[in-house]
Amino acid sequence: MSQAIGLIFLGPPGSGKGTQAQLLSESFELFHVSTGEILRAAIQQKTPLGEKAQGYVERGELVPDQLLLDLISQCLADPSAAKGWILDGFPRTVSQATFLDEILGQLKGISQYVINLEVPDPVLIERLLKRGRQDDSEEIVRRRLEVYYQQTEPVLDYYRSKGQLHSVDGHRQTEEITTSLQKMIQA
Ligand code: AMP
Repeated sequence: MSQAIGLIFLGPPGSGKGTQAQLLSESFELFHVSTGEILRAAIQQKTPLGEKAQGYVERGELVPDQLLLDLISQCLADPSAAKGWILDGFPRTVSQATFLDEILGQLKGISQYVINLEVPDPVLIERLLKRGRQDDSEEIVRRRLEVYYQQTEPVLDYYRSKGQLHSVDGHRQTEEITTSLQKMIQA
């Protein structure tokens, strides 16, 4: 495949974005950017980014856009991203999405796919509570879903209105989802 591939994973917390992003990054050799992972590592290492982000992540709120915009610009400029990338957890607000369009407008020749993994709420809650991450307590899980519906769902409309949104049933076996995504990308 000569053209670089860019995959953008949308979908609520617990929809399987991280799992699918990991599997597809291996099968297509794409640079996997998980903003949540980067933030958790920064918090653990007590970097300036981590110190600014910590309170928001712990409360289940979104970290302010500006911190994410700097972060994503750096990730996309990384030489490992030249052949293609997967964004897992970004964009989460419409202003993050418009910013991303601006920087991607300067990068020519990318086949971009925006994927929304659809999973019913009760299944999401069950999955997140089982996962046991620090921000996966019941109260914070509910807050993260609320934040998703308020601030991230409009991002779906943003891409839908541009005809770029691919909605995929995320309530299936992991392998089945991976296979349908692989087919979509190779089509
Ligand atoms: P995740 O691992 O994707 O569920 O992200 C964990 C937490 O990191 C989120 O609940 C937010 O606090 C923060 N976060 C990750 N990505 C973003 C983003 N694009 N914008 C704002 N906050 C983010």
